[in-house]
Amino acid sequence: MENELRRKARELLESGEVKVVIGYGWNRRRTFTTPIFVTRPDDTDRLIFNERCVNNLSVYLTRKYRDIQALGRPAIVAKGCDIRNIAVLISEGQVEREGVYIIGVVCRGVVYRQELWKGELRPEIMPVKCHNCDVRNPHIADAVVGEPSDFTPPEEPAGMVFDKIREVDAMEPAQRWAFWMEHFRRCIKCYACRQVCSLCYCERCITEKNMPQWIETSAHPRGNLAWNLIRAMHLTGRCTFCGECERACPVNIPLNVINQKMSLVVGEAFDYRSGYDPGEHPPMIVFRPDDREDFIK
Ligand code: SF4
Ligand code: SF4
Ligand code: SF4
Repeated sequence: MENELRRKARELLESGEVKVVIGYGWNRRRTFTTPIFVTRPDDTDRLIFNERCVNNLSVYLTRKYRDIQALGRPAIVAKGCDIRNIAVLISEGQVEREGVYIIGVVCRGVVYRQELWKGELRPEIMPVKCHNCDVRNPHIADAVVGEPSDFTPPEEPAGMVFDKIREVDAMEPAQRWAFWMEHFRRCIKCYACRQVCSLCYCERCITEKNMPQWIETSAHPRGNLAWNLIRAMHLTGRCTFCGECERACPVNIPLNVINQKMSLVVGEAFDYRSGYDPGEHPPMIVFRPDDREDFIK
């Protein structure tokens, strides 16, 4: 697969069709995979793809990375789950479909955190998203590399995240409040969850607005609650369950639980799942006269 990937990348750079290939490579000691940005055909041999290529590279297509945008039209190496984020970015007018060349990679799952890697991909070290994945064969791409996968996901989403959602749903309201307050209390406002998310692309985040100040900036339970709820709401109907925010959180707040709960609510209310159709807008930004809520009429 890697040879095919490198050949494609070389061809794109040599022809001038793209100016940079955003992909995965090894760190200097070959202990971790890391994002790399290849601009010269001779460097395409550095590109790799394996079970440790966890990062969702779509964040590098956003305006957070003007320096990468300045290089010219990019190609991006993307797993199906990463492509879901690209589809949302296209539907929200952040990326033009023709503005990016998507090299989709067939994927058989990745490790949840690279530190867990012990030489083989066992189900227990894979994130929940991989066990439920219906995009192992990339659903939107200009070229696909790798042998097709015949994996069939379960009909109902399963795994730790969904078990936890059911457990929290079954709690009394006061208990549920205490559950979330206990988690949000630990937030240190590092904003890693925001930085790693390709769908958190505002020029100026609400946390940085201080006239008026909407959210207390210190890591105080009151501001922590506001921050985490606002972020969850801003991602509602958009989050793709790529899991990068939870993976980046240094204090292990179960962000997938809150984000996936919101996705389930949106799925039920609007029959919508994000990241499958770049031509369809997320429901929270759509006005429809046949909306079931009266206030919209
Ligand atoms: S969710 Fe699917 S495409 Fe993404 S890493 Fe897991 S198996 Fe691969
Ligand atoms: S899982 Fe987290 S990082 Fe990924 S799209 Fe959702 S909010 Fe963003
Ligand atoms: S990554 Fe975790 S600790 Fe940092 S701001 Fe987000 S929720 Fe808080």
